[in-house]
Amino acid sequence: MTAEQKKPVLVQKFGGTSVADADKIRRAAGRVIKAVKAGFQVVVVASARGKQTDKLVADALELNPNPPEREMDQLLSTGEIQTVSLFAMALVAAGFDAISFTGGQIEMLTDSAHTKARIKSIGADKIHSELDKGRIVLVAGFQGIDENGNITTLGRGGSDTTAVAIAAALGAKDCEIYTDVDGIHTADPRIFKQAARMDRISYDEMLEMASLGARVIHTRAVEFGKKYDVKIHVRNSATENEGTIITHEVPQMEGVVVSGATVQKDMAKIDLVGVDNRPGNAARIFAHLATAKVVVNDIMQTEISGEKANVSFTIAISSLTAAKGALEQIKKQIHYESVFIRDDIAEISVVGVGMRTHYGVADAMFGALAEAQVNIDSITTSEIRISCVVNKSQAEKALSAVCKAFDLDKPAEQRAKKT
Ligand code: ADP
Ligand code: ASP
Ligand code: MG
Repeated sequence: MTAEQKKPVLVQKFGGTSVADADKIRRAAGRVIKAVKAGFQVVVVASARGKQTDKLVADALELNPNPPEREMDQLLSTGEIQTVSLFAMALVAAGFDAISFTGGQIEMLTDSAHTKARIKSIGADKIHSELDKGRIVLVAGFQGIDENGNITTLGRGGSDTTAVAIAAALGAKDCEIYTDVDGIHTADPRIFKQAARMDRISYDEMLEMASLGARVIHTRAVEFGKKYDVKIHVRNSATENEGTIITHEVPQMEGVVVSGATVQKDMAKIDLVGVDNRPGNAARIFAHLATAKVVVNDIMQTEISGEKANVSFTIAISSLTAAKGALEQIKKQIHYESVFIRDDIAEISVVGVGMRTHYGVADAMFGALAEAQVNIDSITTSEIRISCVVNKSQAEKALSAVCKAFDLDKPAEQRAKKT
């Protein structure tokens, strides 16, 4: 084994705002160089610069309001490729050996679900062999390749997943995620400014918060971290602050019931009214939606008579066209009377493993929304969360009201003492 091989591997991921221009890329390169000097073999994963992905989406929609998903992936993957090649140039200019790769070049094999592909395997040997030559390896985030050679993407925010998956594949213990906030907060600090930063958060709570709209980290990245034991360290690329560690063991402070609150905006709700109330109908509806690759969030079914039931569910607004098509196809089989679609909703959630053993969370949440004059459309719960669908125009007000009700402006230690 050479000296180079014995060095531990560190994966550093830089989000779009952290590489938005030449100065920011130089600053990010400075962090990489620091890690190299500290004795790590470094793999850098980077996102598209600034708002580049949004710009590419707008370019596509200008030419085709319903662009083919394969072409969308082909187009969006270019944003990340630009960043890593520029980043490599900056490192070489600073006197370091660096080489950049696309997802395909490092054999980031995914399934063929364009725009929301899942990683199957990664060409770890290729990355190791470059690292062992003493090089800094840069990998374009968010993208992979399917078994037929088509470029795929992992869903918006997917570069986090690229980074943690590479860390897992290389046996790295740590993955640093550099972004534009000081770490994971009790709520989005851009909406609830007084949100408290957490020193640590468990994979389970982070999974729940990420899947409920805390876009600071991609849900699949947290899943990879949990499964392969990668400690995820979320930090601000512009400061030296400590950030937040996402890990297994986080001591639960007695009395802390709600750890965080989230808002999910780009959602739609579909109500199927008067569906035939007979065995197999729910299965038919959701099987059809699954075939159309529609990811369903919350489902509610209520019997309204012996013969009829209402079925409601929430989905991402981007899946609305696919969902409508799937429902139209099975209309004759399930005989629903009418469909109501709301595309002006948002879901506000509170999350906390402490909810398993405490009561009174639901009424505190509903009370806070009532006081803020926010009407609740529907409510869903799980063991560690409560979610309310509200009007999108009231989403930010609703989130702030809920945060205040649960003292989410205070660090967990202070909240623990209070209860
Ligand atoms: P990047 O481009 O670095 O991946 P993102 O925009 O994807 O950055 O994620 C960072 C953003 O996540 C922050 O600017 C913040 O507005 C948002 N965010 C949402 N919920 C949270 C939370 N609970 N803690 C911290 N940031 C959050
Ligand atoms: N550039 C992609 C996006 O904007 C992926 C990422 O940033 O993680 O969603
Ligand atoms: Mg992101």
